[in-house]
Amino acid sequence: MTFSELGLSAPILQAVEECKYQHPTPIQEQAIPHILEGRDLIGASQTGTGKTAAFALPLLSDLEPLSKPQILVLEPTRELADQVDEAFRSYAKHTDIHTALLYGGMGYGQQTQDLKRGADIVIATPGRLVDHFYRGNMKFKDLKCLVLDEVDRMLDMGFMPIVRKIVNLCPWDHRQTLFFSATMPPMIAGFAKWCLKDDAVEIAIARREVASTISHAFYPVGLDQRDDLLLALIRQTQFHSMMIFTRTRKEADSVCGLIRGSGYGDTVTVMHSDIGQKERMAALKGFREGKFSILVATDVAARGIDINGVTHVVNYRVPENPEDYVHRIGRTGRAEATGDAFTLLTADELDFAMAVEHFIGKKIDRRKLEGFKYAYTTLLDDRPLRPVRKPRPASPSRRRR
Ligand code: AMP
Repeated sequence: MTFSELGLSAPILQAVEECKYQHPTPIQEQAIPHILEGRDLIGASQTGTGKTAAFALPLLSDLEPLSKPQILVLEPTRELADQVDEAFRSYAKHTDIHTALLYGGMGYGQQTQDLKRGADIVIATPGRLVDHFYRGNMKFKDLKCLVLDEVDRMLDMGFMPIVRKIVNLCPWDHRQTLFFSATMPPMIAGFAKWCLKDDAVEIAIARREVASTISHAFYPVGLDQRDDLLLALIRQTQFHSMMIFTRTRKEADSVCGLIRGSGYGDTVTVMHSDIGQKERMAALKGFREGKFSILVATDVAARGIDINGVTHVVNYRVPENPEDYVHRIGRTGRAEATGDAFTLLTADELDFAMAVEHFIGKKIDRRKLEGFKYAYTTLLDDRPLRPVRKPRPASPSRRRR
């Protein structure tokens, strides 16, 4: 299928061509015709599948510039909002449609100006959007479409009460609602039922799946050799851009320091929520533009951000939440490019490793790094790996005997 067969308008097709997209991705193929028809839609789909274009292209195709908010897109994080705004602007470049981008951690001046000048599309994080509403800058009455993106992340981040309030502010009778969430636990499904019309179309794409373009494996190692194996992996890998995920902010700083001190100096940068917005943006920009080839990040900081052409992802630890595994490694192999993902695995993380395998429904290869001097760990034995379980204390009755 081609983009022109999907019924998009000429200026949007021209922008898509300039983005060099050859074919619609599966979510685009499924979602675009329904969105063009004006249907409500609920999509189980992660970032990296072409989800942003799946809603942005048909919405832009069908929009007449009126210089007042007609489309509202809610995003959980500033970085994601930034990225979605950039996507809308590039797809809208041959139209007179304008966007306003609203998020916290920045002054109100520019954002207010953008709203007052007349924006057709508002992309916002929930808290700042409501602030603009109270200041009288943001009007909801002409909204034709509400896009709730990454709803499960918004739930995780405690935004649900404010998101409900925003949904209530939007007109109900003539509103189209598009709802995206990587996962659909009962609470999210209930919320979706509340905001969507009864005849909403449901689409599910690549839920729980690791793209076939990604080669991923566990690298078992003893706890005290984790750092050495990480450095050896980096040295032996020919990478263009590598993202390394850590569990905590402190760990991100220490891994960044470790790599910088091992000959990689200023090519490494770090991103976590203790780092100011400006520095985070600078790290992201530097990584995107190739000034940094390694980005060490925590999940919260890196959630949803779109970085093209990441060739490698490393998990310094197995993620505690199996969905994060799929999200993290999905950063390589985006929209059909190939990528590699390594996950360091120590004995205390076997339960998490098994949870990931259970979640994706597949066994993940265990690999050894050629030439690395491994100290002995039972993880390297050729028998099936089992979580290390503490022996149960004997029951009081048995102890008495
Ligand atoms: P998303 O899932 O929206 O985060 O998109 C992931 C990446 O895929 C973005 O960098 C898009 O520019 C890119 N992309 C979106 N649609 C396509 C397509 N049809 N072909 C190639 N790349 C695409």
